Amino acid sequence: MAATLIDGVAIAHELYAGFKERVKALAGRGVQPGLAAIVIGDNPASEAYVRTKARACAEVGVHSVQHRFGADGSEDEVIGLIERLNADPAIHGILVQLPLPLRLNSERILQTVDARKDVDGFNWCNLGAMVAGHPRFSPCTPLGVMTMLERERVAVEGSTAVVIGRSVIVGKPMALMLIARGATVTVCNSKTRDLREYTSRADILIAAAGRPGLVQGSMVKTGAVVIDVGINRLPDGKLTGDVEFASASRVASRITPVPGGVGRMTVAMLIANTVTAAERHAAQSPGR
Ligand code: NAP
Repeated sequence: MAATLIDGVAIAHELYAGFKERVKALAGRGVQPGLAAIVIGDNPASEAYVRTKARACAEVGVHSVQHRFGADGSEDEVIGLIERLNADPAIHGILVQLPLPLRLNSERILQTVDARKDVDGFNWCNLGAMVAGHPRFSPCTPLGVMTMLERERVAVEGSTAVVIGRSVIVGKPMALMLIARGATVTVCNSKTRDLREYTSRADILIAAAGRPGLVQGSMVKTGAVVIDVGINRLPDGKLTGDVEFASASRVASRITPVPGGVGRMTVAMLIANTVTAAERHAAQSPGR
């Protein structure tokens, strides 16, 4: 039997209705959430992501601004801009679009973002808070996956979950969030000896390796929920995930498509975090 599709576009759309209400409530207190995006270099994929994020902001009423640096933009200039944005009361969220040119110290840049405006959840204070079980801002992609699982009423507690990938942006926080919800979690990486041995036991399988077709149907447990985080561009220009969709969807019970799956949820969570940042700011501002 073919798996049911988990539709990230539809779930994100439903969430946006709630965000609009929250933005309206903030307007009543004289606050409009503001998101600043910083783009460095001329990566066309980064430009496309930033455009998508700006469109999402416009849809829910979040003010958005973009700051661009050429490929030769200096680290100190970028740091200077982030410091100004940290101090700007009209900006509640700051995102630095990744990847950064290799010559820049991305940790220095990302860690300059004030933890209270770190809507991507990459600041070490926010990552540490998540490890300690007191999340403030969580990275958007794994947060989007958890929101999808929740909306789909997937039983996370007591499940066996496997995460492929151990990056700070996706794999590691994903594992922490699943652990927090009571899953038994295995995290695989490029050194894992027999990936299939792990994936075939997973009730929830999350692929975030950036390797097209890495997960084939034969590696998926019958009835598993398969979440494909991967976004890979094929030579013909088409986007594909890490999961071989045709074979996996014959075995899984539910599966996300690429595009139209996790990517949409990532953008939705960025908006959610920005609105939350503005709400926290409003709660701390006298008279609001
Ligand atoms: P990354 O930093 O390159 O990390 C990839 C991870 O996958 C690494 O931990 C790597 O292991 C592991 N890996 C690579 N090949 C593997 C293999 N054959 N078997 C097992 N593990 C393997 O990438 P990322 O930033 O986490 O992103 C992962 C994917 O998600 C990419 O396709 C990216 O475009 C996509 N992504 C999508 C969204 C979205 O919104 N949908 C957001 C962010 C990222 P090692 O650590 O051992 O090298």
